[in-house]
This record gives sequence, C-alpha cells and structure tokens, in this order.
Amino acid sequence: MESGRAGKTETVIKSVSEPFYRSFRQFLTERFGERVHRIALDGGFTCPNVDGTVTTGGCVYCDNRSFSPNRRLPRRSIREQMEHGMNLLRARYGTKKFLAYFQAGTNTHGPVEKLRRLYDEALAHPDIVGLMIGTRPDCLPEPVLDLITEYAHRCWVCLEIGLQSIHDRSLRWMNRGHDAACFVDAVQRSRGRGFDLCVHVILGLPGETPADMMETAEACAAMELDAIKIHNLHVVRDTPLEEMYHRGEVPLPTLDEYIRWTCDFMERLPPAMVIHRLSGEAPRDYLVAPQWCREKGAILRGIENEFRRRGTRQGARYRAGVFPRSFRTALPVLD
Ligand code: SF4
Repeated sequence: MESGRAGKTETVIKSVSEPFYRSFRQFLTERFGERVHRIALDGGFTCPNVDGTVTTGGCVYCDNRSFSPNRRLPRRSIREQMEHGMNLLRARYGTKKFLAYFQAGTNTHGPVEKLRRLYDEALAHPDIVGLMIGTRPDCLPEPVLDLITEYAHRCWVCLEIGLQSIHDRSLRWMNRGHDAACFVDAVQRSRGRGFDLCVHVILGLPGETPADMMETAEACAAMELDAIKIHNLHVVRDTPLEEMYHRGEVPLPTLDEYIRWTCDFMERLPPAMVIHRLSGEAPRDYLVAPQWCREKGAILRGIENEFRRRGTRQGARYRAGVFPRSFRTALPVLD
C-alpha cells in the first residue's frame, strides 16, 4: 500500500522491560523532572464549526451547546479556574507544577490580542510551566502561529490539532468542516517553530476498515508529529451522534476490537511519538455508549496485555518516511 520515499522497518524491541509505549506522563517527568498535571481551562471560546464561520451544528460527536455563542454561561476567570484545579491536584497528588490547557472549544478562534490576554493570564501564575492549546487545522492563520511561537520561547508549548481521520469521506461524515489537506497545510506551517504538535484521531468511525485506520496511523507517522491522542468513537448525550446511535446507524467497536486496533495503530507510530491519551473520555452523566469507555484502567491494561502477547510495542512496525499511497494521491502537496 505504500509508495514514495523508501523507508525501512525499524527494530525497536530492545528489552522486555521497556514500556510498551511512550506515555505523556513519562514525557512530562523527563521534560520537567517531576510529575506535572494539566489544568483544563475554558477561555470562553466558541468554534468556527458552530458559530457559522465555517458552518453550524459542529462535529457530530461534539456536545457544543456549552460553547454555542447564545448559550454561554458566565465563566470563572482563568486565574480562578487555575486556582481551583491546582488546589484539587495539590491535595490529591502533591503536584507542584502545572500546564495551562486551553481545552474547551477552539482555542485559537479569536483576535490575536484576545488570545494573548488569555494565554498571558495563565502563564502569569508562577506554578504554570507550560501551555497546551487545542484547536482546529482551519483556525491557525500566520499571526496566530507567530503568537504561539513567541510563547514557545518562554516555556514548553503544545499545539493540539484535531484531525480524527485522514480520510475525507470520514471527515465529511463527522461534519468536521475541513479536509485532510487542510490538516497537512496546518502542520507544514506550524512545524519548526519550537512548539510541539499533537494530533487527535478517532478509531472506530463508521465505514472505516482496520486498513483505513492504519492509513491514518501511517499518515500521522509520516508527518513526524510530536504527540497523539487516540480516542475510541463514543457517544455523548445531546449530540447528532446520539440520534444516529439510537436509530441504529452507528455500530460501536467492542473493547477487544478497540484494543487490537489501538495496538496495530501504535505499532505504526514512531517510537518517540508521545501518547497523550488512549481512550475517549466523557463526564459520567453524559456518556451514552460504549459503557466500557468508563473503565480507563481496563483499557490501558488491555492494551499492555495485547502488546505483551504480541511481543511488540509502539513503533514495532514504523517505517520512517513512508506515506500511505492514498494519502499521497489525495495530497499532492507532499510530492
Ligand atoms: S471542532 Fe472541536 S469544538 Fe468545534 S464542533 Fe468539532 S469537536 Fe466541537
């Protein structure tokens, strides 16, 4: 299935005592010399896929009522959100250093001066050692990338960009409002600016075969991104996906399927790529299905046991510089 830039299979299995994948926790400990936790922040951002800039309605799986422009509730300030989160984490884990994680909505969707004010407010706290910004690939104009580059000179910065799938038909089904080429363009313009790039993907999308999912893995590997969040498709309340699910239109993967696919997926990623997340998460009251999604520990144990059974780990089938054929055909920009 692959073509172009010839690569070779890397042998990464050195010792049975090596971890099965490069976890975010391991990365943070290496980077900061101690345990660091994220503080999820709501900067009051909406989303171009909701407010009509791109379209309305949002992605089919997203409960976007909370950040629809006409439904926003008064929020606590960034400082108040941080103090609240830090107090909880200090009490529970004794954490001393934190990352400001702008998570809700599209966190680059606004004028540069608004972004600067919010990011500055977060970084003004002496215990904040890094900045994480979640966004969409179509919401990264040059002035915003220049701003994020400035912060990368001051602290560790990670830009999280949603892709979900490299297949445009799946992006259309999700109502993402952008295509795969848009993601590649955002990555190319963001690369080499001193901040980390993390991609979000979803496994188990309707109509995607295991081979399709592995093409997404190989595309992410080929783009040499720093980190990845892998989610299982899951249904939360009050979304278009919930309606489709109740109409029987959306088969969801079993836990065993998800574990197999996730291991297959991670085997194709570079060994150094940091795995920020390995399953979908939703507040307990909001999750509709699958119920196994609630058991994060069981998912992680299942993935480790599968790697142990196979005798492999992240990167075992990684081939440097190899682009899936369909990816290259669809994205001539790579030639
Ligand atoms: S881009 Fe993100 S925030 Fe916007 S609708 Fe989709 S999932 Fe929700």
